[in-house]
Amino acid sequence: MDIQKSDALRRMPVLSLVLPCYNEQEVLPETTRQLEALLARLQASGEIAEGSAIYYVDDGSRDATWDMISSYSEQSDKVCGIKLSRNRGHQNALLCGLLTAPGDILISLDADLQDDLEAIPRMVAEYRKGSEIVFAVRRRRNKDTFFKRVSAESYYKFLAFMGVQIVYNHADFRLMSRRAVESLRSYDETHLFLRGLIPQLGYKSSTVEFDRAERFAGESKYPLTKMLSLAWQGVTSFSAYPLRLITGVGMAISILSLAMAFWAIVTKLFTNQALPGWASTVIPMYFLGGVQLLSLGIIGEYVAKIFESSKNRPRFHVESLCGKGFSEDGSR
Ligand code: UDP
Ligand code: MG
Repeated sequence: MDIQKSDALRRMPVLSLVLPCYNEQEVLPETTRQLEALLARLQASGEIAEGSAIYYVDDGSRDATWDMISSYSEQSDKVCGIKLSRNRGHQNALLCGLLTAPGDILISLDADLQDDLEAIPRMVAEYRKGSEIVFAVRRRRNKDTFFKRVSAESYYKFLAFMGVQIVYNHADFRLMSRRAVESLRSYDETHLFLRGLIPQLGYKSSTVEFDRAERFAGESKYPLTKMLSLAWQGVTSFSAYPLRLITGVGMAISILSLAMAFWAIVTKLFTNQALPGWASTVIPMYFLGGVQLLSLGIIGEYVAKIFESSKNRPRFHVESLCGKGFSEDGSR
């Protein structure tokens, strides 16, 4: 491609907004209305090209989400839908959307309007200036509960400590160029943690700040268990530090026990003090038992990952598509 043509593309790209949805019937009407208005505005001002559209990924919803998406796609050529065969989790749904939607740039965001739409024009502007990936980062977390704020902040710090390269306070609200998305295609890990993976792609990247709002309607689809599981993926998919920690703790305890043995011999040989009894026998037993079980658990977690990956199962199945973006002319 000659440089002039690629410059023209960069000035006026086709934008696809990718939104995973799981039981989002309460928010979809408002989300669609706001996103359509945004696309129309950006198109009118010449920031994005004709053909830009919303791509909803229905992650196996049990409510009217898919019916709504398909009826919107009949009424408007700005709405398209991808239906997964069952619930595969936010990360897989997001990946499916990124890998399936057309467009020169793709912006992923949540369906519940928590991500500030006004950050989108700024993200597009960063792309036009040359960034291949634009991370939206939260300025403040004043809308989150105290628990969520503290746990999220400690988690980001913990990941950084473990050597995981991550963009601080960035979740999955980001812009990716076609080139970056194509690079993502070659990673086929079973346990996805996109916000850890994408910074590893390299390419020129930048950040824009936004304030996260409260969920527009409906309930969070990320209960504590799902959140903990994602957090754990983030650690074990990108860091072998927990395994190393086990080695360190094991070594320290071994050295300590040698010292204890030495002390016991010295006591026995050179003093007539009573030998340590119950406490010194039972406490180390429980302690070591605990350390061993924990270590086995952590090793087991990595082994389970190898097991899951070795099966190499597909991460999602697309059941159906709707919308102009997938029709004959917008073909895929
Ligand atoms: N989501 C999904 N599959 C799931 C859980 C969530 O596609 O199994 C979507 C959900 O519809 C939303 C986004 O992921 O668009 C973020 O979820 P949510 O807003 O419930 O999470 P929170 O903001 O509470 O962390
Ligand atoms: Mg949300």
